[in-house]
Amino acid sequence: MKIVTLRALEDFFTEISDEYDVRVPVRLPDGTRLLGRPGEGPLSLEETPVARRPSELFFPQHETVFTAREGEDPEAPPSPAKALLVVGLGPADLDALAFVDAFFASGIRDDLYFARRDGALLIGLSESGEAQLAGLCDLEFLRRGERFALAPHTEAGKALEERMGGIEAADVSATQEAATDEDEVRQILQRASELLLAGKIPDTFWGEIADRCIACTGCTLVCPTCTCFDVQDRRYPERLERSRQWDSCQYDAFAREASGHNPLGAEAARTRRRIHHKLAADVRRWGRITCVACGRCENACPTGIGLISVAREMVEKFG
Ligand code: SF4
Ligand code: SF4
Repeated sequence: MKIVTLRALEDFFTEISDEYDVRVPVRLPDGTRLLGRPGEGPLSLEETPVARRPSELFFPQHETVFTAREGEDPEAPPSPAKALLVVGLGPADLDALAFVDAFFASGIRDDLYFARRDGALLIGLSESGEAQLAGLCDLEFLRRGERFALAPHTEAGKALEERMGGIEAADVSATQEAATDEDEVRQILQRASELLLAGKIPDTFWGEIADRCIACTGCTLVCPTCTCFDVQDRRYPERLERSRQWDSCQYDAFAREASGHNPLGAEAARTRRRIHHKLAADVRRWGRITCVACGRCENACPTGIGLISVAREMVEKFG
């Protein structure tokens, strides 16, 4: 098994930037970790999720769908010049991305999303244990103290591994992890999902939670499995531009219809929708809970009603 140092990886990602649009987790001076380009900050390979949702590399917050000029065919945005190489995604973010891939591939395949996603390479990161990310990434980094063991999962991952520096060495035996907080969170999400599917949560509960919400939408903007977007047309003197941007189910106008009728007009209904969607509606539609327990909404919410906190409250009160 090949073992590499952080320094060797930093050099490799800088070198390969001519070929790929490389994004690595970097630490900014204020301590925030983001996916940036090599050299924008020290490489920060940790399983802890970066602050923003990684899916924004393929589904940005705002993008042009097409531009149209009178008498001409609509013009699609140019294709990306280089394929993305995204480094350091942990198990939760890779799981989230697998869901987003399935979402944008269902029904009419989303050309804008796959213009960036097709051909992109993913390098995952596991903090401990054996390789566990096959099927989710091309190459997996396994932390071994200050160094990383490389476990390729695809031909493209194998080709990357062969180009990286490092030495061949026997792998350090993996330590068996004790049950973690993450296991406990997943049990809470599972129980909360069961309660929702069984109709055990009264409407009054959503009113209590909604009273604490200031509708800032932070929870949905950071969520790696949120996929809602809105479409806008803007007319300029010489062209019309159609764009799309992230939407949020916490906005009053999220579900408002052209007639003025709004099925989610009350804040309690929008709050219920935020939680019910991930823990119940998606279980029915996709066969899985679509909260990957990354904790971003917990950090983002200024009033303490991130999804995990609400699920915990549900279980304590009704479970
Ligand atoms: S913890 Fe919050 S931000 Fe993370 S996947 Fe679940 S709902 Fe989304
Ligand atoms: S982050 Fe918290 S306060 Fe803001 S919209 Fe989401 S639940 Fe409401």
